[in-house]
Amino acid sequence: MTNTMEKAKTQVFNNFIDGKWVKSETGRTFASLNPANQDEVIGQFPLSNANDTKKAVDAAHKAFQEWKRTPAPERAELILKAAALLEDRKEELARNMVREMGKVIKEARGDVQEAIDMAKYAAGEGRRLLGMTVPSELRNKFAMAVRAPIGVIGVITPWNFPVAIPSWKILPALVAGNTVVFKPASETPYVALQFVEILAEAGLPPGVVNFITGSGREVGTPLIEDPRVGCISVTGSSETGRKIAGRCGELMKRITCELGGKNAICVMEDADLDLAVDGALWGAFGTAGQRCTATSRVIIHEKVYKEFAERFVERAKKLRIGDGLDPQNDVGPVVNKDQLKSINEYVEIGKNEGAKLLFGGRILTDGALAKGCFHEPTVFGDVKANMRIAQEEIFGPVTALIPVKNFEEAIEVANGTQYGLSLSMYTRDVNRAFKAIEDLESGIVYINAPTIGAEIQLPFGGVKQTGNGHREAGTTAIEQFTEWKTVYVDYSGHLQKAQIDKYEGQ
Ligand code: NAD
Repeated sequence: MTNTMEKAKTQVFNNFIDGKWVKSETGRTFASLNPANQDEVIGQFPLSNANDTKKAVDAAHKAFQEWKRTPAPERAELILKAAALLEDRKEELARNMVREMGKVIKEARGDVQEAIDMAKYAAGEGRRLLGMTVPSELRNKFAMAVRAPIGVIGVITPWNFPVAIPSWKILPALVAGNTVVFKPASETPYVALQFVEILAEAGLPPGVVNFITGSGREVGTPLIEDPRVGCISVTGSSETGRKIAGRCGELMKRITCELGGKNAICVMEDADLDLAVDGALWGAFGTAGQRCTATSRVIIHEKVYKEFAERFVERAKKLRIGDGLDPQNDVGPVVNKDQLKSINEYVEIGKNEGAKLLFGGRILTDGALAKGCFHEPTVFGDVKANMRIAQEEIFGPVTALIPVKNFEEAIEVANGTQYGLSLSMYTRDVNRAFKAIEDLESGIVYINAPTIGAEIQLPFGGVKQTGNGHREAGTTAIEQFTEWKTVYVDYSGHLQKAQIDKYEGQ
């Protein structure tokens, strides 16, 4: 079948505004392609503009008035229904995710499972949304702080966790009483749309969640600029985050950012090397290295460096690369041709910097792989901590092995990048493990486990250029999406003056 014929029968999808699936007023669309076979068009999606975005914000703003008054446990019931629907459609969503984004099927199921977990967790928050009560310094006075929703939340997401990341943002935002305008990454609009379908099917009232596809410039920017949007929650590259955070700063708008990473596993001379090799392999090449928490550096004590490198490369050679729908495959394609090119450019940069290419480095074009965006798992050895391949986020199946002399140097190298998302220490020495927990500068620390594998019931996020101090998931997700309202109730019947009365006349 020719490309044109495929295109002719390609389904055209719409935005979701005020409870209805509607066309963009631009009439223009973009295609979402399968990264394992770029001839397969997943669908056409609206290239929306500022007017479409305004309509979505209109709907969310209007719906907020009723939604915020809906009791939180009632809001939570709908989120729980969404959890059940996600469970019912888990396999379908996972398979579509593989087709649209490339990760292997097992990992795609994990991505959907994360959304199911988050839905259940967020639903539980509907009966908590904990506030504070404290004693007043005065008699006959009650002091407390309660949570209030912010209003309309603008949700801007990347493509690498196309269901999980939207769920981390949208579900806690909703249970807290906000309404949402969701702009997904243009690489993964289809599974994002299916997630929204499920929310609608769960019974969310019109306008509570709105979905609009298009570019960062034409949809993202008007969303950020609209004064009725009280908070922007973005996950993406540090460059994108910096731009959006800068503008939100000028507008005095809340902005929560989850951005890039340059994560590392440290392997000490007393580590269980089998365990460390397993962990590094999964951390470096899971999701073809396209995780914000991917292990793109392995920092190894010189006493075990040679042995680790040999074992690691042996294992990397055995990884099966191919379409993620084949359960035999370990590593799928990267998301698109641009990303493939950029990853391969980093391979050249690494070689030119003098790092030793121990394995991989090629774009794969054998047989059926030629139609997709496949890159060999790639291992560089003898990498120096200041090389670009050890400093910059590559976001692909490339990892750098860095030898170090001792524990202290390992910590220094691990901390020596602009990022601070996830760092890990492999050691059997409990004292070193706790020292690492104390000294590693990152939002997430693992001991004897790789840099990937966060669970949704604890805070998720990073320090330095990875974020701006907020955390997703866990109870901190509720912090992201609520305002504190401090309330004093004086039932004394006369004027009482805090800080003054208690020192006078008593
Ligand atoms: P990206 O920065 O290119 O895009 C992210 C989203 O922002 C997309 O929806 C995009 O359309 C939108 N966008 C881009 N420019 C914009 C602008 N000026 N205004 C408004 N919106 C704009 O990132 P990506 O390529 O989709 O994802 C990969 C990046 O995401 C990596 O850097 C990765 O580390 C990061 N990431 C971070 C986390 C985390 O939690 N820290 C999780 C996943 C991915």
